[in-house]
Amino acid sequence: MIEDAAQGAGASWRGRALGTIGDFGAVSFHHTKNITCGEGGVLTTGSRRLWQRAGQYRLHGTNRAMYLAGEADRYTWNMPGSCTAMGELAASVLVSQLEILSEVTERRRRIAEGYRERLGVLEEKGLARLMAVPSYAEPNGHIFYLRFESEGQRDRVKEKLLELGVESKTHYVPLHMSPQGKKLGYKEGDLKESLRCYKTLLRLPIHGGMSLEAMEYAAGAVIKASGL
Ligand SMILES: *Cc1c(COP(=O)(O)O)cnc(C)c1O
Repeated sequence: MIEDAAQGAGASWRGRALGTIGDFGAVSFHHTKNITCGEGGVLTTGSRRLWQRAGQYRLHGTNRAMYLAGEADRYTWNMPGSCTAMGELAASVLVSQLEILSEVTERRRRIAEGYRERLGVLEEKGLARLMAVPSYAEPNGHIFYLRFESEGQRDRVKEKLLELGVESKTHYVPLHMSPQGKKLGYKEGDLKESLRCYKTLLRLPIHGGMSLEAMEYAAGAVIKASGL
């Protein structure tokens, strides 16, 4: 199992860091994620065998790492591979980002908690549902979203928010509706909850550098835009 933990840096599930649950985990440091090195990411595994295979893939399919460690007297091509090692410049940016990961996570979580406190009223009035966080999850504040009753209502709120100077976003097209998903034989209605989620979900602004005042302004705008 390869765990797509692209957005998961700093988050955990039942006490386990995201990216450490599958045979492999992949965490992204793309500039849209909580911490970044421009382009890059990390592949994790708890298996020595998989780690060695991944290590060979990363170096053009060779055992060059073993050669450099003095474990082989020459290196050679053993398997398909690519050149996926992170460059030193990106890695040096990443080191400083890793140092502030817990601070960034904390700031984002504070924004999300602020939204939760201020927007609970929407849930009470039945106008929207807030992102639910189960008790076993420790989120990293990567996103905060609302779910509306219908696509039309979501789109109206999105438009009004923009008029109030607040940009909000929908989320990924479900994979089963992508051209590749269609090629694999899926139809739009096959995964009904994914489809509903896609049509009714709205993400609010959230960022490690966002002030609490900006969050308060955005929350106020959401309340206005929702018709309260
Ligand atoms: C960002 C993202 C990716 C892609 O990450 P890259 O580092 O750009 O390859 C994949 N899956 C999910 C869920 C993501 O959010």
